[in-house]
Order: sequence, then C-alpha cells, then structure tokens
Amino acid sequence: MSTNLDPRWEWVDISDFANPDLWVRGECNHLTPEPVHAEPTGELVAHLCPDCNAQLPAEWQP
Ligand SMILES: [Zn+2]
Repeated sequence: MSTNLDPRWEWVDISDFANPDLWVRGECNHLTPEPVHAEPTGELVAHLCPDCNAQLPAEWQP
C-alpha cells in the first residue's frame, strides 16, 4: 500500500497492469469526530465527522 494515502479514509486498490499504484477513496474512517453537546445540559448527544459531515452516535469511538 502507498504510504501517502490519507488515513482518514479507506482506500480501494484499483491498480492494474498499466497503472500499478492506483487507489480510489472509499469509506470515511471518521477519525476526528467532533462531539455535539446539548444545550443547556451539556449532555453528549452525538458526534459529527468534519471529513464527511456524517452524524455519528454519541458513543462513537474512532
Ligand atoms: Zn467521516
């Protein structure tokens, strides 16, 4: 695997004979989720992934 691929995403190897190092970006790994807190209780209600804008459950662990 190439070392310069962004670790925030899954990468799919689509290399072939003519293109031996070809990758397409796959699923987001949600590595840096931002916690979302309810107002005014401050309760953790969800996470938001800044890379793909997905809403993740409060218990999300990257
Ligand atoms: Zn994501």
